[in-house]
Amino acid sequence: MRNASITINSAALTHNLNQVIKKIPEKTKVLAMVKADAYGHGVKHCILSLQQADALGVACFDEAKQIRSLGWQKGIVLIEGVFSQQEWAESIEADCQSIIHHQKQVQWAVDQLPAADSACRTLWLKLNTGMNRLGFEPEEIVAVAKTLVDAGYNLILTSHFANADRPDHPSNVNQIKIFTEALTELREQVDSNIKASLCNSAGILNFPECHFDWVRPGIMLYGSTPLEGISARDLQLKPVMTFAASLMAIHNIAAGAPVGYGSRFVANRPIVKGIVSIGYGDGYPRVVDGSAWVTVKQMASDSTESETTVSYKCPVIGRVAMDMIAIDLTEVPNPMVGYKVVLWGDPEQAEPSVDEIANSAHTLGYELLCRVTQRPTRVVI
Ligand SMILES: *Cc1c(COP(=O)(O)O)cnc(C)c1O
Repeated sequence: MRNASITINSAALTHNLNQVIKKIPEKTKVLAMVKADAYGHGVKHCILSLQQADALGVACFDEAKQIRSLGWQKGIVLIEGVFSQQEWAESIEADCQSIIHHQKQVQWAVDQLPAADSACRTLWLKLNTGMNRLGFEPEEIVAVAKTLVDAGYNLILTSHFANADRPDHPSNVNQIKIFTEALTELREQVDSNIKASLCNSAGILNFPECHFDWVRPGIMLYGSTPLEGISARDLQLKPVMTFAASLMAIHNIAAGAPVGYGSRFVANRPIVKGIVSIGYGDGYPRVVDGSAWVTVKQMASDSTESETTVSYKCPVIGRVAMDMIAIDLTEVPNPMVGYKVVLWGDPEQAEPSVDEIANSAHTLGYELLCRVTQRPTRVVI
């Protein structure tokens, strides 16, 4: 069988959630973000490890339905809100809370009020504090809030940082100021019980004074760094995903011989080249530059698959293809077909972190995690 696997480490996910819980005040609740199939990890493999979260955050109602069908009974928040009157009705049925970022959604909410004991009586009201993506403007927020409170809703004022990963970016101070001013105004003029939520992962780490009533961690739960220039390991986060494959062929390559599509790599000395059963069809990024590497796990000769011995760092060479990549095995003594190759995983096991490979691919860990495909076998430990 072709070996390409994604292993989900449940204990690491729970560990990372606990890292969040340790950093926030006791009264602050956690909305664990599991949109995009739990950042590519497979939400069905993740919700058991997220039992301590107060609610789960998804992008849309379809994602929420899946989580309900998996048996999640606590809160669910649709962070893009609903897209039609009918979806509003269905979301009430499924007990999902919505973000309200648009006048139409206000109308749907006013037109159909959930039962008094429904969780949907709470709405997340989105304020645009300067990211300029979604939300009401500060000038209109009081009127919108008043309409919703008069209709019978409880509100959580919410907004999103544009530059939370860079703590000294001037937009952060501005966004925080606009947010806290609006919150004060709303509490004075509309409803003193209005709650607040501002921080994603980077915000949780960089702006502890802004934790308010709810935090919304995403990427840090999965053990990838939300901050520029600080590794997940330094933040005491553990990688949840290990992306692995195995050596399927080994060849000697003469000096001057090209390898792979476009003959982009040319050996400048005789090398031992390995072919690994992974490619962009599995989610390994085609755009990696020459800095990408993998870990080859040398197994003891008589061992079972799980007993690995020594790890070797091997550069990726040539173009990434749909199903295969080539690596330089020259430094591995007696490499053998079948050896395990880790594309990204745990730096503590001498494996590249997803963030390192994201650097080689000129993107973020977020994108690489979300872009793994359904082709690799999923294993949950
Ligand atoms: C995705 C998302 C988050 C989580 O962001 P991370 O950077 O992954 O922690 C929080 N809030 C909103 C509104 C989001 O869309």
